Amino acid sequence: SLELVGITKSFGSLQVLHGIDLTVERGETVCIIGPSGSGKSTALRCINRLEEPTSGQVFLDGEDMLKANPDELRRRVGMVFQHFNLFPHKTVLENIVLPLRQVNKMSQAEAEDVALARLTEVGLANRASYRPANLSGGQQQRVAIARALAMGPEVMLFDEATSALDPELVKGVLGLMSTLARNGMTMVVVTHEMGFARQAADKVVFMDRGRVVEAGTPDAIFDDPKSERLREFLSQVL
Ligand code: ATP
Ligand code: MG
Repeated sequence: SLELVGITKSFGSLQVLHGIDLTVERGETVCIIGPSGSGKSTALRCINRLEEPTSGQVFLDGEDMLKANPDELRRRVGMVFQHFNLFPHKTVLENIVLPLRQVNKMSQAEAEDVALARLTEVGLANRASYRPANLSGGQQQRVAIARALAMGPEVMLFDEATSALDPELVKGVLGLMSTLARNGMTMVVVTHEMGFARQAADKVVFMDRGRVVEAGTPDAIFDDPKSERLREFLSQVL
């Protein structure tokens, strides 16, 4: 399981996380929802130490991730961003091969095999030699997902993975994420897609102003919200 215990984060004098506790069991998909600026991205980034928490702990299968070395962390926790973060001057294949060589220390041949297998899974084997700029946003995001999966992560983090996509491309990426969730990947998904959260999440976490205000099953969160703040949020987004 993945466990966040009492995570706080301050930027200078601005405290943006006020003690986040979160448990994600192996194979679970947890969706984090909440208003802009509530700390969703910061909380996610504390899991793989793109942000260093000010205090608190992160455990993966009982191991203290704040003490793990950066390469181990990158192997075990994959992340997908809003803006894909592909290397623009490298081909699709090279984008996936490079971290496999550098982080997982694979040979070129082995890395290419893994990369092609992952590209096939996301339906893009025929785009291996393209540059990212020559793909649609949806295809670029599927490459980014393939790249993260190629590392063999135990947990996948998604931060607004579909927010930068044209509406007609959103469905394909959400479909791929649903398939991953169904196939037992452990996932933490920050999303504005309430339909996805309702359908794919085992648990939904509502954050506001750096705190978890409410957490529960999709049915509990969407059909029976307890707090006034969550009711108000849902009335604006649903
Ligand atoms: P959104 O839905 O808009 O993506 P969010 O819930 O992901 O919002 P965060 O990006 O985590 O929110 O930001 C939470 C707060 O922390 C905001 O007030 C933001 O301005 C602040 N913040 C985030 N990163 C930094 C930083 N590097 N330096 C200073 N303040 C930051
Ligand atoms: Mg964010």
